[in-house]
Amino acid sequence: MNSLFDKIAAAFLFREGTEEDENGTLQPVVTVGSIVWGIILRASIIVLFSFFFIQFFRFHGYWWLALFIFWFAAVYPGWKQFQHFDKKIKDIKENTLCGKCKYFESSGQLCKIYDEHITKDYIPCDGLDWEPKSFEDD
Ligand code: SF4
Repeated sequence: MNSLFDKIAAAFLFREGTEEDENGTLQPVVTVGSIVWGIILRASIIVLFSFFFIQFFRFHGYWWLALFIFWFAAVYPGWKQFQHFDKKIKDIKENTLCGKCKYFESSGQLCKIYDEHITKDYIPCDGLDWEPKSFEDD
């Protein structure tokens, strides 16, 4: 339960992760899925608050403010987080065995066969199922 709450909080806050997570040596806190969840959570809250303010305070002329808030509080932080994640995944692709394997799923930092997150120190198959990426995979 605590772990689920932590995951929701991490997604909502676009938490960057620990130093080990940044280095790719721990199970990832941030994935494309968590970034999308963060954007959806924030967007939902913004939509709810916008309806509340527009309806109860009759701010009908200021509906466009919700779009700005949506951009600055949900989409832009999500985009920044994605850029950060993309940089980390490029590093993992270059510096790990899994990163060069056809079964590596970069959006979730995941092995498709074992359905487990890989790290710089953890290769779920110990290299036994490694297969090189084809040109198309890259
Ligand atoms: S099959 Fe092995 S080497 Fe390939 S991604 Fe999975 S764990 Fe890594």
